Amino acid sequence: MSVPKHTSDFLAKRFLSSNRKMIREKLPIKDPKEQRARDYQKKILMKKAREYLPYRLEYHAKLYGYNYSKCRLTHANTRWGSCSSNRTISLNIGLMKVPEPLRDYVILHELAHLNHMDHSRAFWAEVASHDKNYRSHEKKLKMFNPGI
Ligand SMILES: [Zn+2]
Repeated sequence: MSVPKHTSDFLAKRFLSSNRKMIREKLPIKDPKEQRARDYQKKILMKKAREYLPYRLEYHAKLYGYNYSKCRLTHANTRWGSCSSNRTISLNIGLMKVPEPLRDYVILHELAHLNHMDHSRAFWAEVASHDKNYRSHEKKLKMFNPGI
């Protein structure tokens, strides 16, 4: 894999947003009932996600010839997925709440980052070659919240 010049900028932004998430997660939730409901929903989603997302990722990777190192499931509040420089793909368990074409779009987006660690033209061209409707999927995804 060749790493483009933008990488450090890209990773810096990633670092910032994961810190933001950490900070947010440390804020206490006042209502214990709400907290319990959230924990329960998280558990259900994690179970569903475990049985689906790693297999769906593997399916698309095989179909389009991508090699990733592993699949991690997350419940970040701010992002649907990410791809690290060590080729680990992280997918948000909240993807189990969105329609399948949008879920697939996120998977294809992260797979394309294995070849382009940025959002360059070349990156989007690669996404488009696997998902012709990626623009509309990206837009529709904004109507959903990755947090639980
Ligand atoms: Zn991206």
